[in-house]
Amino acid sequence: MDTTTEIAYGSDVFNEKAMRDYLAKDTAEALLHTMRDHAPLDPSIANEVAHALKQWGMDRGATHFTHWFQPLTGSTAEKHDAFFEPAGMAETLARFSGKNLIMGEPDASSFPSGGLRRTFEARGYTAWDVTSPVFVKRHSNGATLCIPTVFCSYTGEVLDKKTPLLRSMQAMERATRKLMACFGEPDGRTTITLGAEQEYFLIDKALWLRRPDLVQCGRTLFGASPARTQQLEDHYFGSIKPRVLAFMEDVERELWRLGIPAKTRHNETAPAQFEMAPMFEELNLAVDHNMLIMETLRNVADRHGFVCLLHEKPYAGINGSGKHNNWSLAYNGKNLLEPGSNPQDNAIFLAVLASIVRAVDLHADLLRAATATLGNESRLGALEAPPAIISIFLGDDLREVVRRIEEGTSAQSENGKAAKLRIGVDTLPPLPRDVTDRNRTSPFAFTGNKFEFRAPGSSQNCSSVCMVLNTIVAESMETLAASIAKVPKARFHEGLGKIVRAVFKDHKRVLFNGDGYSEAWVEEAAARGLPNLRRVPEALAALVDERNLALFAAQDVLMPTEMHARHDVFLDEYDRKVRLEGKVALEIARGMIEPAVAHELRGLAQTVNAMREAGMAEGTESLLGTAHGLGKWLDRLHAATAALDARLEGEAVDIQDAMADLRRIADTLETLMEDARWPLPKYRDMLAIH
Ligand code: ADP
Ligand code: MG
Repeated sequence: MDTTTEIAYGSDVFNEKAMRDYLAKDTAEALLHTMRDHAPLDPSIANEVAHALKQWGMDRGATHFTHWFQPLTGSTAEKHDAFFEPAGMAETLARFSGKNLIMGEPDASSFPSGGLRRTFEARGYTAWDVTSPVFVKRHSNGATLCIPTVFCSYTGEVLDKKTPLLRSMQAMERATRKLMACFGEPDGRTTITLGAEQEYFLIDKALWLRRPDLVQCGRTLFGASPARTQQLEDHYFGSIKPRVLAFMEDVERELWRLGIPAKTRHNETAPAQFEMAPMFEELNLAVDHNMLIMETLRNVADRHGFVCLLHEKPYAGINGSGKHNNWSLAYNGKNLLEPGSNPQDNAIFLAVLASIVRAVDLHADLLRAATATLGNESRLGALEAPPAIISIFLGDDLREVVRRIEEGTSAQSENGKAAKLRIGVDTLPPLPRDVTDRNRTSPFAFTGNKFEFRAPGSSQNCSSVCMVLNTIVAESMETLAASIAKVPKARFHEGLGKIVRAVFKDHKRVLFNGDGYSEAWVEEAAARGLPNLRRVPEALAALVDERNLALFAAQDVLMPTEMHARHDVFLDEYDRKVRLEGKVALEIARGMIEPAVAHELRGLAQTVNAMREAGMAEGTESLLGTAHGLGKWLDRLHAATAALDARLEGEAVDIQDAMADLRRIADTLETLMEDARWPLPKYRDMLAIH
């Protein structure tokens, strides 16, 4: 392979350079302005922009264009249209106009909408989200011009995940401006940034094809733990195998072409598990880029004879995969989560921090709901994944600062430092930027200049999570801003101090620096009154709680009908997936495992008979003992299969219980049977990459 080839970063993105190359100067300026200020596309330049896009796309081999959007299902959707339309007998015209850019009409009847749109009026419309640049996606035999798009029904209801994200960003802009005005900061631009770390597993495609559970459900429904998994901790940050490295390099090259700043790559804790992280970007773009990262991982894996598993818990008993959402907020280019080194910056930092602490405590249920998927249900609260309890880790130093504010300590503390901390007057002690003890057990951790939300699952679209985070923090910042605005100028710092102190006092129950994996924390959290919503249906209920409906409506992010629709879509998706898993488990148990056990039994019986005929006494008793044991487990398997079958039309939770029973039996059988006869590839083989 030629590694010297220069990598054309962003060459497949209609970026500033492409705009200047393909558009008249004024049009390029107008478009850039639109993109920077998040304004809608000016219809008067739409035609010219469309023409340039088509030319630019065709120069890169694109024959089709698509409105690339994010429906309520986890993935992205696209419907391709050719640039070419037949025009008359002999000529073919390449057509693509401003109209296509501003509005497309996918037949949306098969996208989930939670009853917002009846099927006979199935059409929704899509329009370019100008804040995210157009790009060209290459495939093995061509290329497509992709227009990042929002997706609404004709009556204006939101049918995608991007529109509420954009609205929540606007809510944050409004709220940040209000809060910053309290500090006399000049009116300016709010930037929310996201860096999403992506975890995934790789498996050999040949093995994957022989696992109907992986193919259909994305995770193994059966499989005994191998003798050696991750106990030795030799995989994490170990050297990357050449075959995997070749895959990663290909992924990176594709991402760079798409202008996605892929930066770090390494092995993860579990065998065959890996992570990649891009440099952080502005939230909306980072969300789109994460969707493209997942797609690229899948596609490139296929070319390398792998399958990329993005499921949160492909293998039981082994670490699952998360997606750490690193989230931060800047105003006029200054990171508000950077504590700073002077009293004014410190005061702003503490007011923003207080807003976030308040938001997370008041709306832990919503953050939990945003991570509530079937895949994540089996990940949270197990093996190195945060629990379903939402709490905040601040690190020792910042926790100490907050404690001093909370307690309003005025006396000399024991070690002699002046303990009273006057917000806006004193300078904070320097806080370590790279907190060494980052406490990986916390679902929501402060890491020096950003918060890292670790509960989201690896396959999730970051928009749901960040949309909630933005909305609850916006509400909190507005509330604080309203209180601070009432403080008389002359006593500003005193008043501000009181407000921040009251917030920390009222919401300190959500602060927790300890071990989030421990049983003790589960009990303590309950005593503190923090919700622990283990299962998806109970977690999703938060979406339709009256208080939350009012919050989302007040922030202009989602109307109650839209919240209800989402709740219904997500619950339905969960339910359908549980049922699918139940059916697949049944098929595997009946169609593969039972017959294999029967084969083994027949083999044993034949052997015993043959041995007896040959007059061989030794060993027959042992074989009969083995057969006896296997037979007993076969009976249990049969009964558990019937029990699962009987519950398939019932409640999801009963299906899950029946599947767990069945799995315990099947996994035991796996350890009793002859290796070669077991009908499914084993964990040992799937987790090894050669
Ligand atoms: P770790 O695994 O130790 O958490 P990584 O380097 O893998 O760290 O990932 C950290 C992520 O946080 C990267 O995507 C990085 O770009 C992102 N990040 C850093 N600063 C910010 C910020 N101000 N806002 C949002 N994300 C950030
Ligand atoms: Mg991290």
